[in-house]
Amino acid sequence: MTVFAGKLVWVLFVLCWGAIRLSYARRAHRNKHISKHDELYEIVLLTLSFLGYLIIPAVYVATTWLSFADYRFQPAMFSLGVATMVATLWLFWRSHADLGHNFSAKLVIREKHKLVTTGVYRLIRPPMYASFLLWSVLQILLLPNWITGLAGVFGFCILYCARIRREEQLMLHKFGDEYRQYMTHTKRLVPYIL
Ligand code: SAH
Repeated sequence: MTVFAGKLVWVLFVLCWGAIRLSYARRAHRNKHISKHDELYEIVLLTLSFLGYLIIPAVYVATTWLSFADYRFQPAMFSLGVATMVATLWLFWRSHADLGHNFSAKLVIREKHKLVTTGVYRLIRPPMYASFLLWSVLQILLLPNWITGLAGVFGFCILYCARIRREEQLMLHKFGDEYRQYMTHTKRLVPYIL
């Protein structure tokens, strides 16, 4: 397997990821927002995360500007990267399907917001963020470059660290004891563990 194959699979991954996101965002759009939280802050953190997950890897894929930071590409990394990509897309798709009309890219409460505790939400509270963690891993495996690898880790840290507590506070505020109870038997990233 060559570096080109890794780049090609990464492009395919981004296209599939975009198709999932667009189709579910369009459906959720019908459930109107009733409150938005920290909108400017949300735009900044989503933009930074976008930089780490899409812009920097796209520069790596399309140019040779970052080639000074390349590392050796191993066929085993490619196979593991493809397996991680399949897992990422599956978890990302299931998170959208289970969250349904309650989904939003920013922190938002919708008109008919319901607490989802089933499907991939049964064991972990932010499965979509867990899929972003897998995305960072596949980026390291498929694109053998230190800068793109670190950019994906940066994208995840920005999204997760700046979001998770505020999102849980918002859910507690909206759903109270129902969410408190849900928190007692769920984890944040790895079922039963973390
Ligand atoms: N953090 C979740 C959801 C990301 S989408 C995940 O990783 O899967 C972000 C929106 O989902 C937020 O605006 C929040 O209002 C909503 N949300 C998060 N968890 C939810 C849940 N269990 N049920 C319903 N809505 C939820």
